Amino acid sequence: MYPDRVVSGMRPTGSMHLGHYHGALKNWIKMQTELPCLFFVADWHALTTHYDDPAVIERSTWDMVVDWLAAGIDPTQSTIFIQSRVPEHAELHLLLSMATPLGWLERVPTYKDQIENLANKDLATYGFLGYPLLQAADVLIYRASQVPVGEDQVPHIEMMREIARRFNHLYGKEKGFEEKAQEAVKKLGSKRAKLYNELRTEYQQDGKEEALAQAKAMLDDAQSLSMGDRERLFGYLEGSRKLILVEPQARLTEASRLPGLDGRKMSKSYGNAIALREDKDSVTKKIKTMPTDPARVRRTDAGDPSRCPVWQFHQVYSGLPTQEWVVKGCKSAGIGCIECKQPVIDAIIREQEPMHERAQPYLDDPSLVRAIVADGNEAARRLAQEAMRDVREAMGLGYS
Ligand code: SF4
Repeated sequence: MYPDRVVSGMRPTGSMHLGHYHGALKNWIKMQTELPCLFFVADWHALTTHYDDPAVIERSTWDMVVDWLAAGIDPTQSTIFIQSRVPEHAELHLLLSMATPLGWLERVPTYKDQIENLANKDLATYGFLGYPLLQAADVLIYRASQVPVGEDQVPHIEMMREIARRFNHLYGKEKGFEEKAQEAVKKLGSKRAKLYNELRTEYQQDGKEEALAQAKAMLDDAQSLSMGDRERLFGYLEGSRKLILVEPQARLTEASRLPGLDGRKMSKSYGNAIALREDKDSVTKKIKTMPTDPARVRRTDAGDPSRCPVWQFHQVYSGLPTQEWVVKGCKSAGIGCIECKQPVIDAIIREQEPMHERAQPYLDDPSLVRAIVADGNEAARRLAQEAMRDVREAMGLGYS
């Protein structure tokens, strides 16, 4: 089977803030140590909502990559690239669009949500309707096994799986597949070939999932097979189709949610964000002027942390002893709000220090960032081209 791989992207529509860090980036940093990861700047996706303001995209792209590097994305472990530098994404998007029913796109829940949330923009465009399909192409082109998502994005992954399944069903039927698959079985060697056939029968006749898993594990180990034969044998196990595109799995992220300074979702457009590389004085000022429980008008008034956005910051940044100190001190008016905010200020500044350090060389010499992205574009493109060769061939566009 294809190697395990993670793909994820972000839209370059503004600078990154601590909400992005806690909601997604921290998770990327963890994943890059576990599996090969491809992280991309989704500039075409940004155009689906910012088609009338493209200037922000290029500037934000470079800032965003510096933010990723500052946060700890390691270019020696992960592939960092720009979506539009790998035009094969667009080709796959186009080809997938031929066989994707319109209803699948219209029923993606975030489509309607976004149209309502961004009511000030005209999103009745062809590009916007198609963005979940472009997302599918972004993932399927790398035959990614996992995509990190929050709960609200799970329907997108479900749709990607349906699209991959439909593609394999429509185009995975190779001329002479049965004969080629049987030839490939022989290449396993007589013992393994016998076992393969037994497991295949057990799965196809009795639906035994363990037999399928055992056969797949055996194919994973079979070094002697070419990539093409391996895919045939995977497809042959389950039916009579070659697997060209891989159905990805949603990898649910247990992201800690950091709200904005006013308790709403952190967003630059709400003016309630702390930038990833915000300077110390500004962080201090923003936290010091953050709203608190409105009941605490005077220092002697008792408060309730559950009504205070500062408490939500403590839940992300403070350990249990500090949290207990906050709850007790707030409810008894034993501490003042400025006092309560200090550990949060200290923790944010501590968290950001290594980010500033990591960002500095890239700010001093932006060509380093360009070079990292150029390498990433090239590496991603090689993988995308491999998949596109198979896709074109399967769709009768091989012209060899
Ligand atoms: S003491 Fe802390 S938790 Fe309580 S209202 Fe003030 S800032 Fe909020």
